[in-house]
Amino acid sequence: MSTSPITRTAAELADDLAAGATTSVELTRAHLDRIASVDGDATEGVHAFLHVDAEGALASAAESDARRAAGAPLHRLDGVPIAIKDVLTTRGLPTTCASKILEGWRPPYDATVVGKIRAAGLPILGKTNMDEFAMGSSTEHSAYGPTRNPWALDRIPGGSGGGSAAAVAAYEAPLAIGTDTGGSIRQPGAVTGTVGVKPTYGSVSRYGLVAMANSLDQAGPVTRSVLDSALLHELIGGHDPLDSTSVQQPVTGLVEAALQGASGDLSGLRVGVIKELAGDGWQPGVMARFQESVDLLTKLGAEVVEVSCPSFVHAMAAYYLVMPAEVSSNLAKFDAMRFGLRVVPDGQPSAEDVMKATRDAGFGDEVKRRIIVGTYALSSGYYDAYYGQAQKVRTLISRDFAAAYDRVDVLVSPTSPTTAFKLGEKLDDPLAMYLQDLATIPANLAGVPGISVPAGLADEDGLPVGFQVLAPALADDRLYRVGAALEAAHAAAWGGPLLAQAPALQEVAR
Ligand code: GLN
Repeated sequence: MSTSPITRTAAELADDLAAGATTSVELTRAHLDRIASVDGDATEGVHAFLHVDAEGALASAAESDARRAAGAPLHRLDGVPIAIKDVLTTRGLPTTCASKILEGWRPPYDATVVGKIRAAGLPILGKTNMDEFAMGSSTEHSAYGPTRNPWALDRIPGGSGGGSAAAVAAYEAPLAIGTDTGGSIRQPGAVTGTVGVKPTYGSVSRYGLVAMANSLDQAGPVTRSVLDSALLHELIGGHDPLDSTSVQQPVTGLVEAALQGASGDLSGLRVGVIKELAGDGWQPGVMARFQESVDLLTKLGAEVVEVSCPSFVHAMAAYYLVMPAEVSSNLAKFDAMRFGLRVVPDGQPSAEDVMKATRDAGFGDEVKRRIIVGTYALSSGYYDAYYGQAQKVRTLISRDFAAAYDRVDVLVSPTSPTTAFKLGEKLDDPLAMYLQDLATIPANLAGVPGISVPAGLADEDGLPVGFQVLAPALADDRLYRVGAALEAAHAAAWGGPLLAQAPALQEVAR
């Protein structure tokens, strides 16, 4: 075992636990110490966490150790600590969605994903920072201050799940859960040099995931290795009677696919490079690293062709109508009567006055902007022109995917058009911020799965670039086969994982 357990992958930690080389209490304490030394707060440090539950994590670690000692672990990952995005409900633990409107709310129930994690014995370190209600690409829309990118603390960690990605990149947690409505797992993965997976829509329960846009939201793994994502994905996936959109199918074969992929043989695999997701406006260093990874796939035996998905150019426009429409309906429940904040104006305010004052104080600008756009798009007279049109575009995007998957097994693109930008750089320009998800949004609109794996560092700024692989619905195993093959080939070329090259993380011995 290396000097510090915190740089080890979850699979390695699981092996250490199984071999009796460490204990869950020791691992959990090492990660809590790391959080204490690098996480800081709203003004300095990584600030990946909104809430750290040291006591709860150590208590469940002790229980895990007792099970191991009795020879009865609940799961291979029993005892490996994890961090959870603050958009998933955790019984008794604060759940704010990074909004003032939910400050102080402690849910009375666990999200199904959280329940499965507890049932497998993983200690929960705490809740991670995010853009308010998952709206954003930089984590700067958090009401509690931004998360900073561990590669360069003056840069954004991506969003909305910047907290989960930064926690994993900064070795504060070996595993984390994120959610992806338009790219919030994959884009933070890309800009922090970590692995992020958006599973097939409906294959991981949304019960207890505070909804931003129900028809797009999907929880998934955030890790430092492809194998770790496969392990976590299998753990959290599967049918859930509490989620009416849950797929009636078990989630299996992912770990096997990752192991197979790591052996490095991709012969027989057909790969499509999406023509529309490249070109002008894409950072040169991002395109260079992307092309290198494509060449690697060819070297590993894959057959690579260019594929056109003409409707993808309309994906952003469709997403920014469908998503706010769902937001305007979903966020209506924050009415000052049921959860969290209640602001009561002076005098004799009506219920409506209280709602107005509470929403005014409780929601941030980006949330208000989306509620207004969504309400407008759904209003009578505009419904067909905007929402109806967007739904039609959504169908065209699904058809593009279907036609592409007649020819190829997986589609690939850069995950994000740029590397991590500076904090504050795009805060006043919502459209520039929205463009970060150009390449990730089509998968959400069509419900298909996607992974982002590290592709190297851009020449111009030395910051991580992500490589995205997309597969047909319920063929998530292909993401792991291709992702693990690329990861192994890159590690051989780089002499180890990409994160080992992060300047700000050098003090952690590998
Ligand atoms: N950045 C996109 C948005 O702001 C996606 C966010 C997400 O996936 N939750 O909507």
